[in-house]
Amino acid sequence: MSIAERLNQIRSRIAEAAAKVGRDPRTVRLVAVSKTRPPGDVVAACRAGQVIFGENYVQELTVKAAGIAEPLEWHFIGHLQSNKVKYLAGLVTLIHSVDRLSLAEEISRQWGRLGKSCDVLVQVNIAGEATKSGTTETGALRLVRDIALLPNVRVRGLMTMPPFFDDPEAARPYFAELKRLSDLIAGEDIPGVEMGELSMGMSGDFEAAIQEGATLVRVGTAIFGER
Ligand SMILES: *Cc1c(COP(=O)(O)O)cnc(C)c1O
Repeated sequence: MSIAERLNQIRSRIAEAAAKVGRDPRTVRLVAVSKTRPPGDVVAACRAGQVIFGENYVQELTVKAAGIAEPLEWHFIGHLQSNKVKYLAGLVTLIHSVDRLSLAEEISRQWGRLGKSCDVLVQVNIAGEATKSGTTETGALRLVRDIALLPNVRVRGLMTMPPFFDDPEAARPYFAELKRLSDLIAGEDIPGVEMGELSMGMSGDFEAAIQEGATLVRVGTAIFGER
């Protein structure tokens, strides 16, 4: 199957999952995760109407972006070291993986130099896995409050990566928990914070994530094939 055909399939599956819970499918945006894939794959997806692409590695993203002329939007979704933030400034429209204040401070500094603000999501490690990035569930509200005080960063929601399961239903409680946490933080009415986005769900479990409220699903393998 071609990338265009796989994209069409994913779009139908997104629409069906949204319809099942009475959601407008336009409230779910697809992030095509293009890590390890060549620029030609990104261009093919672009020509098939895909707009948002997610990358995990700064070096890979900057090289790839420089070689692509198509109009598209880059999101950064991987673990991010503060000393690499400067390479992303002005290049990405959303960073999904902010998990500590020092990182948000550096993002604010670098976007501030451009006279702009960066939209970010706070990554939460719902399951508390030692191997995964993300703030703790109890630390999330505090982190959002602290980031809200920075001049050039805007919190737009939360992101999570649940533990890996073969059964997509097994991830559902973690998605529901992120939604609950997001509602709780939204209820605090922190100035400058808009908790509109929930980035959750990947190739194996994006339908369950949509049913639990995802607004951004990050899908790689199901579009581009096995890495
Ligand atoms: C690789 C990656 C994805 C996509 O995973 P697939 O299983 O290939 O869909 C999504 N989110 C993050 C943070 C990733 O690193």
